[in-house]
Amino acid sequence: MTEPAGRDRSCPGTFARAWAKAVAGTSYLPMAQAQLEALLQRLTERLAVALRSEPFDLRIGQQVGAELVRAHIASAEGLGRTVEVIQLRLVRDLGLVAEDVEDRMARLLATVATGYARALRDRTLDEQETIRRAAMTARAQAERALRDSEARFRHQATHDPLTDLPNRTLFTERLTAALTRPGRHADRVGVCFLDLDRFKVVNDSLGHQVGDRLLIAVANRLRAALGEHLVARLGGDEFVILVERTAGTDDAVRVAEAALAAVNEPALVDGHELTVSASIGIVERQVADTTPVELMRAADSTLHWAKAAGGARWSLFDADRNRRELARYALSAAIPTALERGEFYLDYQPLTALRDGRVLGMEALVRWRHPELGVLRPDSFIGLAEETGLIGQLGGWVLAEACREARTWADQAGDAPFVSVNLAVQQVRRPGLVDEVRALLGRTGLPPGRLQLEITESTMMSTAEEPVRALRVLADLGVRIAIDDFGTGYCNLAYLRGLPVTELKVAGEFVTGLRAPADDPASRTDERILAALVSLAHALRVTVTAEGVETAEQAARLRAIDCDAAQGWHFGRPGPARQHLDRSPALSGTGV
Ligand code: C2E
Ligand code: MG
Ligand code: MG
Repeated sequence: MTEPAGRDRSCPGTFARAWAKAVAGTSYLPMAQAQLEALLQRLTERLAVALRSEPFDLRIGQQVGAELVRAHIASAEGLGRTVEVIQLRLVRDLGLVAEDVEDRMARLLATVATGYARALRDRTLDEQETIRRAAMTARAQAERALRDSEARFRHQATHDPLTDLPNRTLFTERLTAALTRPGRHADRVGVCFLDLDRFKVVNDSLGHQVGDRLLIAVANRLRAALGEHLVARLGGDEFVILVERTAGTDDAVRVAEAALAAVNEPALVDGHELTVSASIGIVERQVADTTPVELMRAADSTLHWAKAAGGARWSLFDADRNRRELARYALSAAIPTALERGEFYLDYQPLTALRDGRVLGMEALVRWRHPELGVLRPDSFIGLAEETGLIGQLGGWVLAEACREARTWADQAGDAPFVSVNLAVQQVRRPGLVDEVRALLGRTGLPPGRLQLEITESTMMSTAEEPVRALRVLADLGVRIAIDDFGTGYCNLAYLRGLPVTELKVAGEFVTGLRAPADDPASRTDERILAALVSLAHALRVTVTAEGVETAEQAARLRAIDCDAAQGWHFGRPGPARQHLDRSPALSGTGV
């Protein structure tokens, strides 16, 4: 392309200004008007080069298009106006006159448009990419933050704040997982349930802060000693250790022993050297045979065995013992309903005068007609009732029923026997005993002298001053007080002197010796002891009844040493009162 000399009317500035005017307002431009004009001036010069270059250079148009986009003249309208202004004015403003100028112009516009479109597309892609990256980064950050806070939250939810040991929740999770791992039915698992001995004393005497520090010290020791096993704190001074994949009970026992040793080390807490011990209940069994709840319940019972045996030891779960205890528990739980349903009744056994065979009194012995187990003897439920406190209710019923029945005896015989009722230790210690007895006697009309209360020697020995005063009030009323099973405890007769006692019932064990032939040396010794006892009792104005008298020889030897009365199969087995009452007069002077 050539330009005739002297005909150069080229004016790129004019064109650039017109161009700037055309695109103004088509998009937001981050530059001043002068800057825009300068830019477009530069681009106009480039376009002029393109229109004149030989051969025609496609790239220039494209570069111009791209630069427009870079300068943010990037809207469809901006491009439209640009094309328009170039078409209308460029050739004229540059004063170009070549014959192929039309053709060059068309190609130039096409390349500008192409460059423009490409740059716009690239910019959009870049922007999209940037947005995508920013979104990804933001998401990753949000996820990390969430994970962190979730982890923190989960830690709090699954750990004990005091010791930072896993808590019950985590322990239960892990135990459940251990018991339900697929395809591992043959696996065995052990649980050691640990409780500190007498921790309450530490808390009460040294304060909760020291108690807390001690717990932290114990937790740290357990963690250090049993690192590979999960050690959790269940609350208070209770810890539990999960022993996974045991080969047998020995594995769990070894862990328990290590735990006991760790706890036993003296701990220095706030300047106090504290030595604590612990008790552990161990359960170890095949995972297929158990559930978490069952395992923990068994471990808990076993822990109580260790405590009951004196603490500072481990106990191993024993299915038979557990079954027996459950049965006992079920039995004790059934007592209140049995009382309501009238399943208890009283048998009576005579206390017979050795001098003349008269029935002096009758001991009320409670029985339970259990709907499934048949008639139960007191030995199988009195202890339970004592442990559970139900003896108050049951004993109250026995006392009332015995007084009620004894009152009817008087109706038949003028010289009616007294009724002898066994009182459990809780009944003796109950503050309302005197009132209860007084009310009962008033209600039934039974004379106080026809009621005897039997209190075992051990109850008597463990009884404080207050209950003894109550017994004295009752004795002053005329109620008879007997010491039951005398000789099985460590009561001495001097102690008896201070007690409001009317009668000693000598335990059957002492009377058994009298069954042997009278010339047997051991038997003679027993007899001499009994004789001494009888004469000492008499010196204290206390009568003596021998229990468990099964033979006529025993009865004869007891009479010979001046024993007052006897009770036992020889004189009558426990049964309905009627059967003894009917025999009473006929027995006088005989059958002894
Ligand atoms: P216990 O008070 O020493 O009663 C005497 C026990 O000896 C009775 O047993 C009686 O059946 C048994 N026995 C009587 N004669 C003979 C004999 O010749 N040979 C032998 N081997 N045993 C004889 P039972 O009825 O089984 O009562 C056991 C214990 O249960 C009683 O001993 C008493 O401590 C307690 N008990 C019975 N009823 C009550 C009650 O209502 N309340 C309380 N707290 N305890 C009661
Ligand atoms: Mg008795
Ligand atoms: Mg007795």
